[in-house]
Amino acid sequence: MRQDSQPTKTPAVYFRVFFDQTDFAICPLCKDKSSPTTVLCNKCLISLPVLGWCCEKCREPLPEANSLFCRQCQKYERPFNDCIIPFTYEPPVSNMLKQLKYGGRLIYLRPLVSRLADSLENHYQDKEWPQAIIPVPLHWWRLRKRGFNQSNLIARSISKTTGIPVLSNCIKKRRATPQRGLALSERKRNTKNIFSLKRAPGVKHVAIVDDVMTTGSTVEELCRTLKKTGVQTLDIWCLVRTPAHYTV
Ligand SMILES: [Zn+2]
Ligand SMILES: [Zn+2]
Repeated sequence: MRQDSQPTKTPAVYFRVFFDQTDFAICPLCKDKSSPTTVLCNKCLISLPVLGWCCEKCREPLPEANSLFCRQCQKYERPFNDCIIPFTYEPPVSNMLKQLKYGGRLIYLRPLVSRLADSLENHYQDKEWPQAIIPVPLHWWRLRKRGFNQSNLIARSISKTTGIPVLSNCIKKRRATPQRGLALSERKRNTKNIFSLKRAPGVKHVAIVDDVMTTGSTVEELCRTLKKTGVQTLDIWCLVRTPAHYTV
């Protein structure tokens, strides 16, 4: 299986990566001293909001005394198998994610992806790892404007440690209204047929990678597209999960 070539980065992204890395030993959150390998200082690392009690299927945060599954997962069968997400959408992770996506602060990738990698190690201790990683694609226009696809960067980082290939040229995304602020029914309508197939991944077990999972509409639509190609098992790997009815 061919591993896809590195995505093209614009000079603006190289510029931001360079300057992000020069203040490496200073914690970008509290400006205290930090380690170059962890990026954040220990105090900030400990303060990151990890997912607590949540839905067994889609990892939506649930009130303590609630059932094992959220309302959506009780109502219908999700098209994916497992969902591995370490963080909940609360500060400082919510701010880190915004700065990463909209401000190009790629330095925040390392501490977030590192925790996802730990969660994956834990999850797949007694389970089969997926055969390929597929990052949720961006529409080419948005990719050009932003200069990077954060899902692709997360996927490549995980691929480096696991050896699982990234297939970033299988799926094309059409342009759609941004999902931010839309209700669940609008999100579902907005994502309908949003993906089209460029080439079949040729494997049975795939991990879909995204930065944040809100209602799950986007990854579910991608699952449906991939299932048409013979993919049987789909796992979702994300950095952050939002609470119920929270839209970002
Ligand atoms: Zn700090
Ligand atoms: Zn659920």
